[in-house]
Amino acid sequence: MACSDKERIYREPARDVPVLGEYDVVVVGGGPAGCAAAIAAARGGAEVLLVEKGGYLGGATVSQLVCVVLSTNGADFQGIWHEYMRGLKRRGGVGEILMNPGLIRSTVDPELVKYVWDELLAEAGVSLLHHVYCAGAIMAGGVIGGIVVETKAGRRAILAGRVIDATGDGIVCDQAGVQWEQGDGKHKYAMACTKVFRIANIHRPKNFPNEQAMEKLAADLSAAIERGEYTTPVVTTKDRLLNYIREGSWALPAHRNEIMSVISRVLKTNPLDPQELTTAEREGREQARQAADFYCRYVPGFENAYLLDTSNHIGVRSSRRIRGLATVTADDAREFRKYPDGIARGSWAIDVWPADSYTASAVDRESDEASRRLERLTAGEYYDIRYGCIVTEGVDNLLVAGRCISADHLAQSSLRIQQTCISTGQAAGTAAAMSLAENVTPRELPAAKVVAKLKADRDTVEPAFEILKGT
Ligand SMILES: Cc1cc2nc3c(=O)[nH]c(=O)nc-3n(C[C@H](O)[C@H](O)[C@H](O)COP(=O)(O)OP(=O)(O)OC[C@H]3O[C@@H](n4cnc5c(N)ncnc54)[C@H](O)[C@@H]3O)c2cc1C
Repeated sequence: MACSDKERIYREPARDVPVLGEYDVVVVGGGPAGCAAAIAAARGGAEVLLVEKGGYLGGATVSQLVCVVLSTNGADFQGIWHEYMRGLKRRGGVGEILMNPGLIRSTVDPELVKYVWDELLAEAGVSLLHHVYCAGAIMAGGVIGGIVVETKAGRRAILAGRVIDATGDGIVCDQAGVQWEQGDGKHKYAMACTKVFRIANIHRPKNFPNEQAMEKLAADLSAAIERGEYTTPVVTTKDRLLNYIREGSWALPAHRNEIMSVISRVLKTNPLDPQELTTAEREGREQARQAADFYCRYVPGFENAYLLDTSNHIGVRSSRRIRGLATVTADDAREFRKYPDGIARGSWAIDVWPADSYTASAVDRESDEASRRLERLTAGEYYDIRYGCIVTEGVDNLLVAGRCISADHLAQSSLRIQQTCISTGQAAGTAAAMSLAENVTPRELPAAKVVAKLKADRDTVEPAFEILKGT
């Protein structure tokens, strides 16, 4: 075996890898960004394959149970997002859209998300492969020519004219040798991870919460902690859990007697480290179990409730941020900068869940700067994400979409919201198809052409909800 104990390196022998297929565009990752990218590229005339390591589409919306729609003002709801929402609405998979000044919110049914993306991909003519993990990039002189995948049949190569990395973790870009960053500038941890969970069979009493009941819950919680029933800080820090209970957590589409909770916080986890990620899965699951146990034993209306599930994959808010030809900065987001080469919009707050605190709040709504910003956001402001942020630096024919595009730490905490991932995905797919049609690399493609095509495509889409028409 070619293995040096000193360096702890195993040198793989060279081997021939069968070619599974050849496509104009290969999209890696079937989350919100990848689905939108594949649809846009196929509509642009390309022959497209999407490869997804799981057995369904939807990415974190499903695997991490991020079944939430959140926007400050709706300016970030664009194009394919409306088609996706229309599909969910048709199937009864989205709750009422609640519109308050500065906060639009709803929930989606994660099971139905899978069917809606399936339908949209099929309509667009996208080929799909599930249970296929991209493990390498096929490189020749700074150009990507395809990917290497692991399948149940063994290792295979897939050739492509353009590759779009929509893995959330920038797996393809890393393999292709594109530079990337992670962390908050001080250490490699960017944000806390969260094991989302659902509780089912709840029957919330009409008069809950009220002060008397909340006081009793606070006393029950203190006594239970005293007895050693709960040990995780997400429960023992008390106030946060009590606030979540008071606010009702997220009620899943209104007709369902379920809530989902994001109370779990696993701190100081590097989501790219296999050992740390494994520890985080276990710790997050235990946090969820203990929090759900308190709900089910003590909270009015939860007498017959049970922990329905914890997310398949712990929620990862940030990992690699891929270096592109341009970078979205915190100042872009704070100052609502517009650019002529803007291909997507962000209007969600800078939303950092600190990697080192169980209690620090995520969105700063208290400072003067934050309230001035919120005022402008409420009035409809947004910032542009430039075309160069989805074109990778140093590798031709490789685009990136979703939460791992080129951005700094604070900007990423805002643009990671699902609708913005869908928008960068739509832009990457559009650019991939256009660059093929024009026989230029994505870097050489004039951004103005991409912007104009996106505008034309997005302008034809009817808003999914009547109440969003004016936003
Ligand atoms: C706890 C939590 C709460 C959040 N709350 C909200 C919220 O309220 N509202 C909101 O809009 N957003 C929220 N987000 C953010 C949002 O869910 C994500 O940023 C978004 O889903 C990212 O989309 P994506 O398409 O870039 O990546 P993902 O959704 O992660 O999709 C990536 C896909 O790529 C696949 N993949 C990965 N590697 C490979 C590989 N090597 N080969 C093949 N396939 C691969 C994965 O299986 C996955 O399907 C939250 C996130 C977390 C973790």
